[in-house]
Amino acid sequence: MEKQGLQVAIDGPASAGKSTVAKIVAQRFHYIYCDTGAMYRAITWKVLQAGVGLTDEAAVKALLDQITIRFEPGTPEQKVFVDDTEVTLAIRQPDVTNSVSAVSALPAVRAELTERQRQIADAGGIVMDGRDIGSTVLPHAQVKIFLVASVDERAQRRLKDNAAKGIDTPLATLKHEIEERDRKDSTRKVSPLTQAADAIRLDTTSMSIEQVADKIAEIIQKKES
Ligand code: C5P
Repeated sequence: MEKQGLQVAIDGPASAGKSTVAKIVAQRFHYIYCDTGAMYRAITWKVLQAGVGLTDEAAVKALLDQITIRFEPGTPEQKVFVDDTEVTLAIRQPDVTNSVSAVSALPAVRAELTERQRQIADAGGIVMDGRDIGSTVLPHAQVKIFLVASVDERAQRRLKDNAAKGIDTPLATLKHEIEERDRKDSTRKVSPLTQAADAIRLDTTSMSIEQVADKIAEIIQKKES
């Protein structure tokens, strides 16, 4: 199949603004947007529902093999389904957020989701965000961005996002959770959060979402021409 558009990988630590920016960029270029964090959250949700141990690799992999994880267009955000159950809001709740790093560290889970993500990205014209997209999932992506921001800024952003979703967690707790998740995601053995050698690093601490999106759009346009 002829490739329609580029592969754009956006990685970075928790709450760095990846998904917000990725959605805007995908819309501008009429690319598909794939939130790989939502896929790790979806299997984590299923694991919690099923009462399986978070680190029981064989049992978690068996569950993953039984489920489909799908995205459907929606406003303000894409809807996420595990089989026929909509989990868009459920996967953003603190129980999933605080368990997802344990599940995403399991090699068998990463291998399976990496495979599914490559299939989604295969035709090109995609913006994919996560932790290991530029380094592992799409090592040949034409555009690789690594977004960072200070922990204080990221906690403030998460507070605002949460307020809009009716989730009420104090700022200090959010800061602690973000630091913990970064630590676990960066130190796991299989494809840890890391900047690919050929990724462009953008510090978004004092940038608006629009400025970040404009910058990435500029980079894509240069590659496309
Ligand atoms: O992006 P988001 O914060 O929703 O990701 C949730 C979690 O999923 C991360 O903390 C990480 O443990 C895991 N993840 C991952 N690899 C990816 C995307 C997310 O390990 N490509």
